[in-house]
Amino acid sequence: MKQKVVVFSQIDPDIQEKLEQRYQVVCLQPKLGDVNEQLLTHVQDAEGMIGAGRWLNRHNLATANRLKIISSVSVGYDNYELDYLNEKQIYLAHTPHVLTETTADLAFCLLMSAARKVPYLDQWTKQGQWQRTVGEAQFGVDVFGKTLGIIGLGHIGAAIARRGFYGFNMNILYHNRHEKPELAQSLRAEYCTLSQLLQRSDFVVIAVDLNAESKSLIAAAELAQMQPHAVLVNIARGSVIDEQTLIDALKARQIFAAGLDVYQKEPLKESELFKLENVVTLPHVGSATAATRKKMAELAYQNLVDALEGKVPRYVVNPQF
Ligand code: NAP
Repeated sequence: MKQKVVVFSQIDPDIQEKLEQRYQVVCLQPKLGDVNEQLLTHVQDAEGMIGAGRWLNRHNLATANRLKIISSVSVGYDNYELDYLNEKQIYLAHTPHVLTETTADLAFCLLMSAARKVPYLDQWTKQGQWQRTVGEAQFGVDVFGKTLGIIGLGHIGAAIARRGFYGFNMNILYHNRHEKPELAQSLRAEYCTLSQLLQRSDFVVIAVDLNAESKSLIAAAELAQMQPHAVLVNIARGSVIDEQTLIDALKARQIFAAGLDVYQKEPLKESELFKLENVVTLPHVGSATAATRKKMAELAYQNLVDALEGKVPRYVVNPQF
C-alpha cells in the first residue's frame, strides 16, 4: 500500500504529479472549510507532510500518530512547533541555499525602491503629476558608497552584503549573536553591537531567523537610534520588528523609509502601512521567482522521499530530534 502524504499548501505542479505517482496524496483545501479540522482528519494515517506557510503545532497535529516528516518548502521554520516534533520524533526538513540569491535580490530591490521612492514616484508619474521638474518631495537618498548594516549575516545576509560591497562600494557592518570573522574578512565587514550598527548605518537590513532572541529585536529604543536619513529593510520575519512602533516612526519621519516583505500578521490587510508613502510593502515574495520556487519544491520533495525511505533527509532541522 502506498504511503500517505498530506500537501498543506499549493505546490509546484510537477512535484504534485511526482507525489501522486509515488504516494497516496491528500491536499488541504481552505475553500472546503476549517483547515485545522481537515488536518486532524487527514494526518491520522499520514506518514509525510509537505508545504509552506501554515502553523503546525501540537493542536492541529494531535492525531498524527504515524507522521515521520514535515517537509517545509521554505528555509524559515518558525511556524512549526519544533519541541513538539522532537517529542514525537518527527523530522522537520527545510530548503536552505537554493533561495539565498533570489531573496538577497529582493532585499536589494526593497532597499533601492525605498531609497529612491520608486513606488511613490511610479504612482506620481502615472497620475500625471509630472508637470515640469521634480522637487524635494520626490528626492531620494544615495545608495552608492554608503554604510550598509546587516542584522544576521547568515546565508542571505552575506549575499545581501556581497551586493552592497561589490556592486555599490558600500561599507559593511554586521551584527550576529556570534562573530563571523572569515565571512566578514572577504567583505571587509565590521562586527558591531546592535546599537553601534543602528547608529552608524545608512541602510539597515534584517536577515535573521525568527527565534526567541530575535523576536521584537527592533522596537522603539532601536528605531530611535537610527539616523533620520536611514532606510530599514526587513526580509526576515515580521515579528522581528515591533510593527506598530515602526509605523509610528515612519509617520513621525524618524527614519527616511522602510522596505518590508514580511509582517507580524500575514497576509497583510487593512494596515496603517498602506497609507504611508515612505514604506514599500511587498507580499512576502523573497523567494518568489518561478525558477527558485521550483528548486525549493524539488528539494522539499527529496527531503520527504528520503525520510519516507527511512533515511535522514539532507536538510533536516532536527537530525537527532
Ligand atoms: P541563516 O543562514 O541561518 O542566517 C540567519 C542568521 O541570523 C545567522 O547568521 C544567525 O547568526 C543570525 N541571528 C539569529 N538570531 C539572531 C539574533 N537574535 N541577533 C543577531 N543575529 C541573529 O538563515 P538564512 O538562510 O540566511 O535565512 C534567514 C531568514 O530569512 C530565514 O530564517 C527566514 O525566516 C527568512 N527568509 C525570508 C524570505 C522571504 O521570502 N522574505 C525568504 C527566505 C528566508 P547567530 O546564530 O550567530 O546569531
